[in-house]
Amino acid sequence: MANILIAEDEKPIRELICRSLSLAGHTVQQAEDGPAALQRVAEQPPDLVLLDVMLPGCSGFEVKQQLDPALPVIFVTAKNSLSSRLEGLGLGADDYIVKPFEILELLARVEAVLRRTRPENEAFELDGCRVEFGTHQVYCGGQEVPLTPQEFSLLEVLVRNRNLALSRDKLLQLAWGYDYEGDTRTVDVHVQKLRKKLGWDERIQTVYKYGYRLSTR
Ligand code: CA
Repeated sequence: MANILIAEDEKPIRELICRSLSLAGHTVQQAEDGPAALQRVAEQPPDLVLLDVMLPGCSGFEVKQQLDPALPVIFVTAKNSLSSRLEGLGLGADDYIVKPFEILELLARVEAVLRRTRPENEAFELDGCRVEFGTHQVYCGGQEVPLTPQEFSLLEVLVRNRNLALSRDKLLQLAWGYDYEGDTRTVDVHVQKLRKKLGWDERIQTVYKYGYRLSTR
């Protein structure tokens, strides 16, 4: 998937983000201050930087100014004021996320930025099945598997949050839209169809009394 640098001085937050992105299949690098972030980027250029604004050494804004403008950046900060938000976006950041945040929200933003910046890499493969996000096509063993738009949407949510347990409510919210007032049994029905069509009985795991998880390991 992607190589992501996390520049964050608060260790618990940095480690939480690292764990979540690693679980999602990304390679992660860490930096605990501004100069270290610049050094990591020089040594091994990442696909995306999650950049805390209040960093020791030099601020996230200062780090951003020294980076290649083409390198995607999401600012992560506790500073919730409009002026710092505008300063961040004025510096050409791709997105901005305010602490405290939900980890699913962070993952969604990361995926959205990667999707915008690396469209050619937009596919996911598992057990001989290939999910192409650009065209919404799925191939298993080289054969196209027809999915309804709703099935594809659910599959996309499971893939983008792979290895995380997602509640039925969360799946409804993410795959059907925030305002969808469906029965959570709708999720069960669609999961059954996906399992059958892709042969992913073992991959899409039931999380007892909660929901589902797409396991890639
Ligand atoms: Ca900080």
